[in-house]
Amino acid sequence: MSERLTATLARRTTCRVCEGKNLKKVLSLGSTPPANAFLRQEDLNKKEESFPLECYFCQQCSFVQLLDIVSPELLFGNYVYVSSTSPVFIAHFEEFAQTICKRFELQKESLIVDVGSNDGILLRPFKKLGMTIQGVDPATKIAEMATANGIETIPAFFNKDVAHTIRSARGPAQIITATSVFPHVDDLNSLVAAIKELLADNGIFIVEAYYLVDMVEKNLFDTAYHEHLSYFTVDTLTTLFNRLGMEVFDVEKTDTHGGSLRVFIQKHGGGRNIQNSVQKFINEEKNKKINKEETFLEYEKTIQKNKEDLLAMLRTLKAQGKKIVGYGAPAKGNTLLNYFGIGTDLLDYIVDDSSWKQGLYSPGKHIPIVSSDVLRQDKPDYILILAWNFARPIMERFLDLNLKFIIPVPRPVIIEDLVDLDLFTIVEGIQGEAPLLEGKKVVITGGSGFIGSYMIAAIDFLNRHYFKKPCEILSLDNHIIGKKNNLLREINSEHIEYINHNVCNAIKIDGPVDYIICAAGVASPVYYKRYPIETIEGTIFGLKNSLEVAREKQVKGILYFSSSEIYGDPDPNFVPTPETYKGNVSSIGPRSCYDESKRLGETFALAYYNVHKVPIKIVRPFNIFGPGMSSKDYRVIPTFLSQGLEGKPLTVHDKGNQTRTFCYATDAVIGFFKVLLAGRDGEVYNIGNANDEINMKALADMVSEDVFNKSVPVSLISYPDNYPQDEPRRRCPDLTKITTDLGYKPVINLKSGLRRSYLWMKNALI
Ligand SMILES: [Zn+2]
Repeated sequence: MSERLTATLARRTTCRVCEGKNLKKVLSLGSTPPANAFLRQEDLNKKEESFPLECYFCQQCSFVQLLDIVSPELLFGNYVYVSSTSPVFIAHFEEFAQTICKRFELQKESLIVDVGSNDGILLRPFKKLGMTIQGVDPATKIAEMATANGIETIPAFFNKDVAHTIRSARGPAQIITATSVFPHVDDLNSLVAAIKELLADNGIFIVEAYYLVDMVEKNLFDTAYHEHLSYFTVDTLTTLFNRLGMEVFDVEKTDTHGGSLRVFIQKHGGGRNIQNSVQKFINEEKNKKINKEETFLEYEKTIQKNKEDLLAMLRTLKAQGKKIVGYGAPAKGNTLLNYFGIGTDLLDYIVDDSSWKQGLYSPGKHIPIVSSDVLRQDKPDYILILAWNFARPIMERFLDLNLKFIIPVPRPVIIEDLVDLDLFTIVEGIQGEAPLLEGKKVVITGGSGFIGSYMIAAIDFLNRHYFKKPCEILSLDNHIIGKKNNLLREINSEHIEYINHNVCNAIKIDGPVDYIICAAGVASPVYYKRYPIETIEGTIFGLKNSLEVAREKQVKGILYFSSSEIYGDPDPNFVPTPETYKGNVSSIGPRSCYDESKRLGETFALAYYNVHKVPIKIVRPFNIFGPGMSSKDYRVIPTFLSQGLEGKPLTVHDKGNQTRTFCYATDAVIGFFKVLLAGRDGEVYNIGNANDEINMKALADMVSEDVFNKSVPVSLISYPDNYPQDEPRRRCPDLTKITTDLGYKPVINLKSGLRRSYLWMKNALI
């Protein structure tokens, strides 16, 4: 129920889900203009209409919602957002269409209807897959454009009449999707009635919506804006659909907008079993007290703190004479700017890649919007990333400009350089698992090596920016290879203790230990040929000493680094290689000191798991590379990069037809943390990147072309004498296990990783 207050504003008096009347205001973001009401220069002096932006909590069904409803005609009639300008979203919806067709075994020409179809970003891939499609969108111009481009779109708000028209012309729909509009609709009863009218009896309605749990946990308060009327949980969605004669039968998370829900709904009697996921989500929501009013009162304090911290940071930088600009002008950016009171006194302009926004001014704060060309010419000191869900790709794009970035939520973080960007990428990838490290003690053997340096720097980054209680680290290393404590950067922290210790000797530690990371050992073929005895001793005795500490301290997890080398030269039928492949390794070959000790290490670790219940987790990394690797490491990527930096030809052994896959360090470290913190005890996981398998000649060509703009040639040479023979011909991981168990998915492709490694090495050599 709602009453009209003005021509453009109405106000609900009852809960949108349960019609309850006990509604309590839990979050007030002030009175602001609609977040997509960008202004032209000639309108800047005219009066701008503002509306209250306040979230209410229903004491009956715990649904969180806006009650002030700005007229949809005002919000959406002139809507000019074109989804397909974002490559990330295009990829997201292509994957979505493929998954749906496969999972529900859709027949060709099944009718798919998208409500709020925009320019057809979702329907286009369905059409390619042979489906019959129909779009519905109230933004007239976009609807016309979509139809002209082959995605037939009715220019209207979806309602019973529209549903009836479509059904009469084309029959019932197998799938109806609402991937952005569902939270925007005030009258959910009418919308769902229209959906039921059009949907086949065994059809599926799929909704995507921001997830209230993520909004609260990750402090994504800026996803509140006037269009966004409903803030769903699985619990409230279940209540809603049950009241309206439908049922939620499956739920999953997607990573768009910092965390969204994808919900599958059928008519009662639709024939599909209700999956366990539904109850699992509901239980977790209860554990997190997301159905309690107090949670939101506490939440408002967190937002206040975020506001104070960000303003203080921006004002300090401004006082130092720094030039700060914004990046991205999405709806959420305007909520943040208006609520935090950030205007042209702090930001000179905002860069946005959508051409239609360029030349306009942000609603409320009137900050000019410009194209990224301005940024390249102007080179400001700091960039405040308002489109934070694209923070990583935005920062990657401007790596070469040496800019500094500020991420505003959940708490302000400055990304100073490439190493910060890597650490931010890791932290982004372990959001779910990282809280387990808060206030804990971690021991790392080989803490000054390549992987150890990354893991310590990542925990240090968490300590500095995210943790209230720091994670204490003890790093043990005998510096046989490197001299520095950390290869990535100097870290000064009272929470990290470095001890010079050879892990072959017993390890004595006072006090409790929560996690152990056994990263000691040599991994470069040239080193292990030179130090075969130390290689074996370091692996086996080092592991034994760590396992003893794990047993004594009853740790929560201990991570052992095995290697993909334990597979030897795999049978071609076992490439990509799964964890179950037994290996093809010589016990007396030139690489055996490394391969065989890693194999024995796995057996040894599992014996401790079986006999002493030590919670061991084993990883087998596949060709990890990245910043921190020494130019004299002799592995292929650092070798190519250092040759190129010295202006020398890139040398490829033999014909260069042996293939590898390469995994950028941040992706690998995300995998290591996931296995340590959430992997199953006594299990082995491959970690790597199964994309971009490449032979060495092609890799050299890629480095020459993409990193050095062809300024260095590639030359083929025979193997040097000091290089151990028996090189595997092909190596590529099967990542099914870690993807299924832990949701691991590498995000940095080979070219991007090469570029990051190059920039780091270039600066490190200066
Ligand atoms: Zn309610």
